[in-house]
Amino acid sequence: MDYNDYSIQYIKGVGEKRARLFNKLGIFDVGGLIHFYPRKYIDWNNTVTVKQADSGDIAFIKATMITPVKESLIRKGLTLYKCNFTDGETVIHVTIFNNKYLAKSLRTFDDYVLYGKIEKNFTEARMSSPQIEKADNKPGIQPVYPATENLNSKAISKAVKSALDKIEFFEDTLSDEIKQQYNLCSLDWAIRQIHFPTDLGNVEKARKRLIFDELLTLRLGLIKFKSKKSNKNYYKLKNDFTTEFLKLLPFTPTGAQRKAVGDCAMDMQSDGAMNRLIQGDVGSGKTAVAAAAVYSVIKNGYQSAFMAPTEILARQHYETFLRLFENCSVTVELLTGSTKVKEKREIKQRLAQGEIDLLIGTHAIIQNDVEFADLALVITDEQHRFGVEQRAALAMKGANPHTLVMSATPIPRTLGLIIYGDLDISVLDELPPGRQEIRTDVVNSSYHERIYKFIRKTVDSGHQAYIVCSLVEEGENDLIPATEYAENLSEGAFKGYNLGLLHGKMKPKEKEAVMSAFARGDVDILVSTTVVEVGVDVPNATIMLIENADRFGLSQLHQLRGRVGRGSDQSYCILVSDNKSDSCKERLSVMKNTNDGFKIADYDLQTRGPGDFFGKRQHGLPNLVIADMLKDTETLAICQKCAEQMIADDPNLDKYPQLCRNITKMFKNTDF
Ligand code: ADP
Ligand code: MG
Repeated sequence: MDYNDYSIQYIKGVGEKRARLFNKLGIFDVGGLIHFYPRKYIDWNNTVTVKQADSGDIAFIKATMITPVKESLIRKGLTLYKCNFTDGETVIHVTIFNNKYLAKSLRTFDDYVLYGKIEKNFTEARMSSPQIEKADNKPGIQPVYPATENLNSKAISKAVKSALDKIEFFEDTLSDEIKQQYNLCSLDWAIRQIHFPTDLGNVEKARKRLIFDELLTLRLGLIKFKSKKSNKNYYKLKNDFTTEFLKLLPFTPTGAQRKAVGDCAMDMQSDGAMNRLIQGDVGSGKTAVAAAAVYSVIKNGYQSAFMAPTEILARQHYETFLRLFENCSVTVELLTGSTKVKEKREIKQRLAQGEIDLLIGTHAIIQNDVEFADLALVITDEQHRFGVEQRAALAMKGANPHTLVMSATPIPRTLGLIIYGDLDISVLDELPPGRQEIRTDVVNSSYHERIYKFIRKTVDSGHQAYIVCSLVEEGENDLIPATEYAENLSEGAFKGYNLGLLHGKMKPKEKEAVMSAFARGDVDILVSTTVVEVGVDVPNATIMLIENADRFGLSQLHQLRGRVGRGSDQSYCILVSDNKSDSCKERLSVMKNTNDGFKIADYDLQTRGPGDFFGKRQHGLPNLVIADMLKDTETLAICQKCAEQMIADDPNLDKYPQLCRNITKMFKNTDF
């Protein structure tokens, strides 16, 4: 059996009860324990004298005990032990609380090392409850593990030590040539040194090796996953109609749009099927790019499918495509959860017979009974809203169709490389002309009256406004606050105006009705929870007021803000927050200072980490233990090269059985 899978409870000194405490730290087996690394190290060799230390320092002092321990009972349950030490220059008064075992073990005139905080005055020093070890038996370099309340670092260290003692040698995952080529130490050495370094300088070498292993395993796993998919192009387009389509657009495409469309056209005429991500900030015009690809596919005689995450968005796309294809004899249909049964049946029938060219819809279009006659292109909008398996389900509707995914979440390049390692990327880094920067302000709630006045003025001049008030995050209760809030407004600040309310608990039909009324201009002010977040397009709306803005992630705020500024009029985003903490102020000021989604995403990623950034499910990647996707970018690039080299040399990785097991283990609980 692979030592990795050996259950933690069989390690000497662990047992069933303690195993549960390890489980809480996410450690279930020996592999998990071995790869649970120290957070830092304390070096007992690093002793100083009291004179060398500053008062308040945490330090190691080598000292001789000079007075016997005096015991005094302060009250029941609290015993104090006092004794004095000297380092040869200064007397140190040591107090120990309750630790009878330690107190009884100390001997006058023996040498010790004291570790703890040191308080100094002119002639003496004090240490309260220091860690005390015998000088000739001190621990050396001691690992400090991230502990929990009931499982301290020492207990973890002991378990690791038993495990390491038990395993004679860690079989290396890499060949000698690779280790040599990339200047890596052996795995066995790395594992032992990262836990119990004989020299602190060894830790970096060990870390380098372990980070390399982790990122290499990740890359190899992703490549393996990718190669399972066929890449044959069964729908190699004979003719390209994208240029013809661009002329039909009611506007002049931007350079970035032209380039992205060109990328798609080339993909679809090549030997491999298209697998492309269109990445562009909100409002950059991704829909038109998708439409060009759809048009070209249809003119070649095939079908396309377009999946959006919400009903509202699907309908909006449906209407957009109807308009775009108005005079082109293209048949477009919409299929969502709320399509009537009879209509659904009809659509499915016509779809299977090839009478529908483009099917737009929600998840409804990946149901089992939806069949296409000749599906050559699948598009997923706002892809971060879908799991990997949902995208895959859509692709399964055809024989390896061309795939286009669209994302407004600006992903920093380094992360894109990992997550979309199997996708080609086109970036829309140019907004359509005439757009103005959205002016963003951060205020506290004392500004409400002024803001309401400003909104009234704007609405009076013919524009519309959004008010986002997700008081409770997607919870059971968000209905009540949003409703109440809207009622208060409609009777107070916005009496006489048309208010619409949109929240997560409404039926799709109801949402639909409110949203269309807003899009038509029948509703002046849309009060909503975050359901408004995804790509709806109402260019006449120029104000976005967000209550409790500090509750949102920056990327989410950026998405919300992207609902305004979609026309040529000056738009405003007002973030209300009463949170006075510095970190919160700094976060919101990022919103005020930039409209650049990439900068915002980078900041978000640095302060919150990739897990939060995408939501765990959404990125579907394994959790990393030692490597940091943001900081270890250089190693990542090297591992990419190494992975390619290994696969070219040994496609099934037969020479690397342990690495294969590690890959399987790493990807066990992911979407891949
Ligand atoms: P997103 O990238 O957020 O999905 P959309 O595709 O919804 O953006 O486009 C946003 C708005 O900009 C739409 O109203 C669209 O018609 C318009 N638009 C797109 N491209 C251009 C362009 N090149 N010139 C002018 N308007 C454009
Ligand atoms: Mg969009």
